[in-house]
Amino acid sequence: MNKIPWSYRFYRWTWNGLDLLFPPVCGGCGRSGSRWCAECRGRVSRIRKPFCEKCGIPTRGSEICEKCKSNPPAYRALRSWAVFDSPVQNALHAIKYRRNIGLADALAADLVEFVRALQWTADLLIPAPLGKARLKERGYNQVGLVARPLAYELGIEYAPNGLRKTRETRSQVGLSAAERQANVAQAYQADPSAVKRKSILLMDDVATTGSTLASCTAALMSAGAAEVQALTIARALAHHGLNRV
Ligand SMILES: [Zn+2]
Ligand SMILES: [Zn+2]
Repeated sequence: MNKIPWSYRFYRWTWNGLDLLFPPVCGGCGRSGSRWCAECRGRVSRIRKPFCEKCGIPTRGSEICEKCKSNPPAYRALRSWAVFDSPVQNALHAIKYRRNIGLADALAADLVEFVRALQWTADLLIPAPLGKARLKERGYNQVGLVARPLAYELGIEYAPNGLRKTRETRSQVGLSAAERQANVAQAYQADPSAVKRKSILLMDDVATTGSTLASCTAALMSAGAAEVQALTIARALAHHGLNRV
Protein backbone atom coordinates (compact mmCIF):
# COMPACT_ATOMS: atom_id res chain seq x y z
CA MET A 1 0.00 0.00 0.00
CA ASN A 2 2.89 2.28 0.81
CA LYS A 3 4.10 3.62 -2.50
CA ILE A 4 6.46 6.36 -1.43
CA PRO A 5 8.38 7.58 -4.49
CA TRP A 6 12.16 7.25 -4.26
CA SER A 7 12.57 10.93 -5.04
CA TYR A 8 10.57 11.80 -1.95
CA ARG A 9 12.40 9.25 0.19
CA PHE A 10 15.69 10.77 -0.88
CA TYR A 11 14.43 14.26 -0.20
CA ARG A 12 13.29 13.27 3.29
CA TRP A 13 16.50 11.36 3.93
CA THR A 14 18.61 14.39 2.98
CA TRP A 15 16.51 16.62 5.16
CA ASN A 16 16.81 14.28 8.15
CA GLY A 17 20.53 13.95 7.50
CA LEU A 18 20.87 17.70 7.91
CA ASP A 19 19.60 17.32 11.47
CA LEU A 20 22.86 15.56 12.34
CA LEU A 21 24.84 18.58 11.17
CA PHE A 22 22.51 21.27 12.47
CA PRO A 23 20.61 20.18 15.59
CA PRO A 24 16.92 20.91 15.03
CA VAL A 25 14.71 23.10 17.19
CA CYS A 26 11.10 22.31 18.06
CA GLY A 27 8.56 24.09 15.86
CA GLY A 28 6.18 24.35 18.80
CA CYS A 29 8.38 25.74 21.59
CA GLY A 30 11.75 26.56 20.04
CA ARG A 31 13.79 24.28 22.31
CA SER A 32 16.57 22.38 20.63
CA GLY A 33 16.63 18.62 20.30
CA SER A 34 13.87 17.67 17.91
CA ARG A 35 11.57 19.24 15.34
CA TRP A 36 8.41 18.50 17.31
CA CYS A 37 9.15 17.69 20.95
CA ALA A 38 7.29 15.25 23.17
CA GLU A 39 6.13 18.05 25.43
CA CYS A 40 4.53 20.02 22.60
CA ARG A 41 2.99 16.85 21.29
CA GLY A 42 1.43 16.32 24.70
CA ARG A 43 0.16 19.91 24.85
CA VAL A 44 -1.84 19.75 21.61
CA SER A 45 -5.51 20.59 22.36
CA ARG A 46 -7.33 17.95 20.40
CA ILE A 47 -10.89 18.60 19.27
CA ARG A 48 -13.11 16.13 21.03
CA LYS A 49 -16.79 15.27 21.05
CA PRO A 50 -19.38 16.66 21.21
CA PHE A 51 -19.03 18.39 17.86
CA CYS A 52 -21.25 19.03 14.86
CA GLU A 53 -21.39 15.90 12.69
CA LYS A 54 -21.17 18.04 9.59
CA CYS A 55 -18.64 20.82 10.16
CA GLY A 56 -16.89 19.42 13.24
CA ILE A 57 -17.24 22.58 15.32
CA PRO A 58 -17.50 21.85 19.07
CA THR A 59 -21.12 22.04 20.20
CA ARG A 60 -23.02 21.60 23.43
CA GLY A 61 -24.22 18.19 22.40
CA SER A 62 -26.45 18.83 19.40
CA GLU A 63 -25.71 16.57 16.46
CA ILE A 64 -25.82 19.22 13.73
CA CYS A 65 -25.02 22.85 14.54
CA GLU A 66 -27.43 25.69 13.75
CA LYS A 67 -25.19 27.02 11.01
CA CYS A 68 -25.12 23.68 9.17
CA LYS A 69 -28.88 23.25 9.65
CA SER A 70 -29.69 26.57 8.04
CA ASN A 71 -26.97 26.42 5.40
CA PRO A 72 -25.77 22.82 4.85
CA PRO A 73 -22.19 22.67 3.59
CA ALA A 74 -21.47 20.84 0.32
CA TYR A 75 -18.77 18.66 1.84
CA ARG A 76 -19.94 15.46 3.51
CA ALA A 77 -18.03 16.26 6.69
CA LEU A 78 -15.20 18.38 8.01
CA ARG A 79 -12.91 17.28 10.81
CA SER A 80 -9.99 19.06 12.40
CA TRP A 81 -7.25 17.49 14.44
CA ALA A 82 -6.51 20.26 16.96
CA VAL A 83 -7.50 23.67 18.19
CA PHE A 84 -5.58 26.48 16.47
CA ASP A 85 -3.64 27.45 19.54
CA SER A 86 -0.08 27.00 20.76
CA PRO A 87 1.88 24.83 20.12
CA VAL A 88 0.09 23.86 16.89
CA GLN A 89 -0.24 27.51 15.90
CA ASN A 90 3.55 27.97 16.18
CA ALA A 91 4.18 24.77 14.28
CA LEU A 92 1.91 25.80 11.39
CA HIS A 93 3.62 29.18 11.30
CA ALA A 94 7.01 27.46 11.04
CA ILE A 95 5.76 25.30 8.20
CA LYS A 96 4.16 28.21 6.39
CA TYR A 97 6.99 30.70 6.56
CA ARG A 98 10.12 28.64 7.13
CA ARG A 99 9.49 25.56 4.98
CA ASN A 100 10.18 23.26 7.90
CA ILE A 101 9.85 19.93 6.12
CA GLY A 102 10.97 17.82 9.09
CA LEU A 103 8.29 19.41 11.23
CA ALA A 104 5.65 18.93 8.53
CA ASP A 105 6.61 15.26 8.43
CA ALA A 106 6.23 14.98 12.20
CA LEU A 107 2.77 16.57 12.06
CA ALA A 108 1.78 14.24 9.24
CA ALA A 109 2.79 11.30 11.43
CA ASP A 110 0.53 12.63 14.21
CA LEU A 111 -2.34 13.06 11.76
CA VAL A 112 -2.19 9.53 10.35
CA GLU A 113 -3.84 7.94 13.36
CA PHE A 114 -6.43 10.69 13.54
CA VAL A 115 -7.44 10.26 9.90
CA ARG A 116 -7.46 6.46 10.10
CA ALA A 117 -9.84 6.64 13.06
CA LEU A 118 -12.31 8.62 10.91
CA GLN A 119 -12.65 5.54 8.69
CA TRP A 120 -13.17 7.65 5.63
CA THR A 121 -12.52 6.18 2.25
CA ALA A 122 -11.04 8.43 -0.41
CA ASP A 123 -9.47 8.04 -3.83
CA LEU A 124 -7.51 11.28 -3.85
CA LEU A 125 -6.00 13.62 -1.32
CA ILE A 126 -6.04 17.19 -2.60
CA PRO A 127 -4.51 20.13 -0.70
CA ALA A 128 -6.28 23.50 -0.82
CA PRO A 129 -4.20 25.32 -3.45
CA LEU A 130 -2.49 28.69 -3.35
CA GLY A 131 -2.87 31.22 -6.15
CA LYS A 132 -0.08 31.42 -8.74
CA ALA A 133 1.38 34.65 -7.38
CA ARG A 134 1.40 33.44 -3.78
CA LEU A 135 2.91 30.13 -4.81
CA LYS A 136 5.66 31.90 -6.70
CA GLU A 137 6.38 34.20 -3.80
CA ARG A 138 6.51 31.41 -1.18
CA GLY A 139 7.88 28.71 -3.45
CA TYR A 140 5.68 25.95 -2.07
CA ASN A 141 2.22 25.20 -0.72
CA GLN A 142 2.53 24.76 3.04
CA VAL A 143 -0.51 22.47 3.13
CA GLY A 144 1.21 20.16 0.66
CA LEU A 145 4.21 19.76 2.97
CA VAL A 146 1.96 17.88 5.39
CA ALA A 147 -0.55 16.50 2.88
CA ARG A 148 2.01 14.69 0.73
CA PRO A 149 3.58 12.48 3.43
CA LEU A 150 0.11 11.98 4.93
CA ALA A 151 -1.24 10.71 1.61
CA TYR A 152 1.70 8.30 1.29
CA GLU A 153 1.12 6.96 4.79
CA LEU A 154 -2.61 6.54 4.22
CA GLY A 155 -2.11 4.95 0.82
CA ILE A 156 -4.28 7.57 -0.90
CA GLU A 157 -3.20 9.06 -4.21
CA TYR A 158 -1.79 12.55 -3.72
CA ALA A 159 -3.28 14.86 -6.37
CA PRO A 160 -2.12 18.46 -5.87
CA ASN A 161 -3.14 19.36 -9.42
CA GLY A 162 -6.74 18.27 -9.03
CA LEU A 163 -7.69 21.74 -7.87
CA ARG A 164 -6.27 25.15 -8.69
CA LYS A 165 -6.89 28.68 -7.57
CA THR A 166 -8.01 30.80 -10.47
CA ARG A 167 -7.62 34.20 -8.88
CA GLU A 168 -5.76 35.76 -5.99
CA THR A 169 -7.81 36.57 -2.93
CA ARG A 170 -6.95 38.94 -0.12
CA SER A 171 -5.91 37.53 3.22
CA GLN A 172 -8.86 36.28 5.28
CA VAL A 173 -7.37 37.84 8.42
CA GLY A 174 -9.79 40.16 10.16
CA LEU A 175 -12.69 39.48 7.76
CA SER A 176 -16.18 38.58 8.98
CA ALA A 177 -17.74 35.26 8.01
CA ALA A 178 -19.74 36.87 5.17
CA GLU A 179 -16.69 38.75 3.89
CA ARG A 180 -14.62 35.57 3.98
CA GLN A 181 -17.24 33.75 1.94
CA ALA A 182 -17.39 36.52 -0.68
CA ASN A 183 -13.59 36.76 -0.76
CA VAL A 184 -13.07 33.14 -1.86
CA ALA A 185 -16.29 32.59 -3.85
CA GLN A 186 -15.54 30.98 -7.22
CA ALA A 187 -11.81 31.34 -6.68
CA TYR A 188 -11.15 27.65 -7.38
CA GLN A 189 -11.45 25.32 -10.33
CA ALA A 190 -11.13 21.54 -10.35
CA ASP A 191 -9.83 19.33 -13.15
CA PRO A 192 -12.73 17.06 -14.24
CA SER A 193 -10.34 14.49 -15.76
CA ALA A 194 -8.72 14.08 -12.34
CA VAL A 195 -11.68 14.28 -9.98
CA LYS A 196 -14.70 12.96 -11.89
CA ARG A 197 -16.52 10.25 -9.88
CA LYS A 198 -13.72 10.31 -7.33
CA SER A 199 -14.10 10.50 -3.61
CA ILE A 200 -11.94 13.39 -2.44
CA LEU A 201 -10.15 14.06 0.81
CA LEU A 202 -9.65 17.81 0.74
CA MET A 203 -7.07 19.22 3.13
CA ASP A 204 -6.24 22.65 4.49
CA ASP A 205 -4.06 23.82 7.35
CA VAL A 206 -6.58 25.88 9.34
CA ALA A 207 -10.36 26.14 9.17
CA THR A 208 -11.95 29.26 10.58
CA THR A 209 -15.41 29.71 9.11
CA GLY A 210 -14.88 26.96 6.53
CA SER A 211 -15.36 29.33 3.60
CA THR A 212 -12.21 28.21 1.74
CA LEU A 213 -13.18 24.56 2.09
CA ALA A 214 -16.74 25.34 0.98
CA SER A 215 -15.48 27.12 -2.12
CA CYS A 216 -13.01 24.29 -2.93
CA THR A 217 -15.79 21.73 -2.43
CA ALA A 218 -18.12 23.60 -4.78
CA ALA A 219 -15.42 23.53 -7.47
CA LEU A 220 -14.77 19.81 -6.96
CA MET A 221 -18.46 18.90 -7.03
CA SER A 222 -19.13 20.92 -10.16
CA ALA A 223 -16.23 19.08 -11.84
CA GLY A 224 -18.01 15.82 -11.10
CA ALA A 225 -16.43 14.61 -7.86
CA ALA A 226 -18.52 11.92 -6.16
CA GLU A 227 -18.06 13.39 -2.70
CA VAL A 228 -15.76 15.58 -0.66
CA GLN A 229 -14.63 15.06 2.90
CA ALA A 230 -12.56 17.83 4.39
CA LEU A 231 -9.73 17.73 6.85
CA THR A 232 -7.75 20.47 8.52
CA ILE A 233 -4.82 20.30 10.86
CA ALA A 234 -6.30 23.00 13.09
CA ARG A 235 -9.54 24.72 13.83
CA ALA A 236 -9.77 28.35 14.92
CA LEU A 237 -12.46 28.63 17.55
CA ALA A 238 -14.27 31.88 18.25
CA HIS A 239 -13.19 32.08 21.87
CA HIS A 240 -9.59 31.79 20.75
CA GLY A 241 -9.98 35.06 18.85
CA LEU A 242 -11.00 34.80 15.20
CA ASN A 243 -9.13 37.97 14.35
CA ARG A 244 -5.77 36.49 15.14
CA VAL A 245 -6.10 33.90 12.44
ZN1 LIG B 1 8.33 21.76 21.71
ZN1 LIG C 1 -21.92 22.42 11.76
